[in-house]
Order: sequence, then C-alpha cells, then structure tokens
Amino acid sequence: MPAPLSQHPCFSAGAAGRIGRLHLAVAPDCNIQCNYCNRRYSCVNESRPGVTAEILKPAAVHSHICDHLHREPRIGIVGIAGPGDPLATPAMTLGVLRQVKKDFPQLALCLSTNGLTLVEHLDELAALGLEYLTITVNAVDPGIGRFIYSRVYADGSILKGREAAEYLLQRQLMALEQLQQLRITVKINTVVIPGINHHHVSAIARKMSDYRVAVMNCLPMIPVADTPFAAYQEISTPRLRETRLSAQVWLPQISHCRRCRADAAGLLTGNCSPKAIPA
Ligand code: SF4
Ligand code: SF4
Repeated sequence: MPAPLSQHPCFSAGAAGRIGRLHLAVAPDCNIQCNYCNRRYSCVNESRPGVTAEILKPAAVHSHICDHLHREPRIGIVGIAGPGDPLATPAMTLGVLRQVKKDFPQLALCLSTNGLTLVEHLDELAALGLEYLTITVNAVDPGIGRFIYSRVYADGSILKGREAAEYLLQRQLMALEQLQQLRITVKINTVVIPGINHHHVSAIARKMSDYRVAVMNCLPMIPVADTPFAAYQEISTPRLRETRLSAQVWLPQISHCRRCRADAAGLLTGNCSPKAIPA
C-alpha cells in the first residue's frame, strides 16, 4: 500500500499539527526556467520563494537531521524540495535520500520535482524507499504552458516556447503513468497565476485524476523581483477558493500549505514557515 496521507503534514491537514517535516536544501540547480522563479530564491515548487539560508552539503546532512530531531522530535518526514529541482542533480539527490533512509529508517522520505527527469529515476526512488512525491504541474495544455516556462533543458539542447512546454508535459505524463505501478503517494502542486493559468486549474485536476494522484495543492504564485511575472498580482483569496472548488470536482484539495522555504523545518503550525496562505 502507498504511504497514508494521514502521516504527512502537507498531504493531510490533520497531520499538520502532529507530524513535522524537514527540508534538506541540498539541490541548487534546475533543468527548466519558470517565469516566476529567480534563482537567488528557493524553488517556488514547494513554494515560498524565500532565500534558503545556505545550500546544505550532503556530508552535513546526517548531523543536520540529528540537530533538528533533537530540537523537534515530532519530525517524521525528511524531504528535498530545492532550492532548485532535486532531479537536476540526480546522483546527489538519490545518494542523500539513500543515506537518510539507511541512517534514519524511522523517517519517511519525500521529494518535490518539476517532473522533467522523474521517469528516469522512478525505479531507483521506489527501490530506496521514497514514500511521498510532489510533482508541480502548471499546465496540461502547451499553449498555456509556453507562457509559464521560458526554457526546458532536453538532452543537451534548450527548448523554448510551445516545444518546451510540450516536452515537459510529455515527461510529466510518462512519469505519472509509471507511478501507477509504484507504491509512492503522489501530490500535484499547481502554481496558480492569474491571467495565465488560473482558468486552467480544473483542466489540470481533471487530467491528473486519470492517474493515481492522491491530492492536489493549488498554490498562489508569489510575484518575485527580476522575473517575467514580477508585475503580476498574487491571486485574491476569493478567487483562489473558487479555483480550488473547480479543481475539487476532480481531485481532493489541500488548503493548508504554507509555501515553505527550501530549508524549512518543524511543524507546519510552528514559526518555521514564513507565510501561510488563507484557506
Ligand atoms: Fe525555479 Fe523550481 Fe521552476 Fe526550477 S522548477 S525554475 S527551481 S520554480
Ligand atoms: Fe508542505 Fe510547506 Fe511543501 Fe506546502 S510548501 S507542501 S506546507 S512543505
């Protein structure tokens, strides 16, 4: 059986005050460019683009986890969510996850990715015991995705425009297809950008419901300086509610996500996360 939603604070609101999570900010690089992301900030996939205090060295991971468990014994999940895409540096990410599972078998593993190279690593992720996975899917129509992604790296070349969005979506769907055979609990994150994809979120949810996706998290984009979307407004709370309701027809929604930093630690209900999103 896949790991239960009730044992991950982000996948289930009921677990948020009970189980803590620790993000290991070991992954600085990315293999795509989202128009809301500035590399000086942490990844919007998971998703408050606050600066991570530092990139954690893999060699420091063990003592980092020990320190945090000492401070907050309720931490039950260890994840990698940035500040870039963890699978842009797969050897490092898989090595860290493997080591964490070996040293801390009582902790569940979690990973967040844009999904570009996920399909290449799924067997290994399943074999090392990954329990929870988040894929950020911002469009299931390349005609919309082309406004969100300015570049996608593919086998040594750089794709742009519709071709980039098409390639990313194709790779995400391949991974989702393969995930149906694996015992990994899957969440979809969608960064909601007014005027770009907010009207498309229910179509994303509908498409994702064809796969074994447990839950969806619609995150308002936070406009970040020096990005193409810097001047866009964050979606209003009533509009976000409507968006979530339209998606809920197809997939269960969560509304307690706190758009955490890539180095967040502790309970979601604690002070470790900078800004909660109104439900
Ligand atoms: Fe930034 Fe994450 Fe998008 Fe990469 S996937 S460009 S790190 S928001
Ligand atoms: Fe959980 Fe924070 Fe990630 Fe949201 S950003 S899914 S609350 S760890």
